[in-house]
Amino acid sequence: MAGRRSKYTPGEYKLRVRRSHTGKGLFTEQDIPKGACIIEYIGKPVSEEIALRDAGKYLFGVAPNRTIDGNIPENIARYINHSCAGNCEALGPAGRIFIFSRKKIPAGTELTYDYGKEYFDRHIKPRGCRCAKCSPV
Ligand SMILES: [Zn+2]
Repeated sequence: MAGRRSKYTPGEYKLRVRRSHTGKGLFTEQDIPKGACIIEYIGKPVSEEIALRDAGKYLFGVAPNRTIDGNIPENIARYINHSCAGNCEALGPAGRIFIFSRKKIPAGTELTYDYGKEYFDRHIKPRGCRCAKCSPV
């Protein structure tokens, strides 16, 4: 019997870290349909104290008073870059974060999602956004 798959079960898509125009990015090597769960953003839990103090780039608030640090080797979702018009979005039940496709994504495309206003204002705005929407190549 096939196991019961929840909406929050990542598909087994072939993903690869490659050079993008903003450094490294995460690309899909196969077509991904719209609305698919692609990958979980995993990390180690950090205290609120550290979350507030460090404001690290890989910190992800997954629920009220719960933050994870995604800067660990197993978390290849950390290579997904910000875009103001991303082809993915971060969703999840409390405590976990999954990356879903917002549209059909053809093989060879870089995965991106909108990191949200707080992150944008703190880390991206000061040096200017380099996403495809803000600075087309
Ligand atoms: Zn942008």
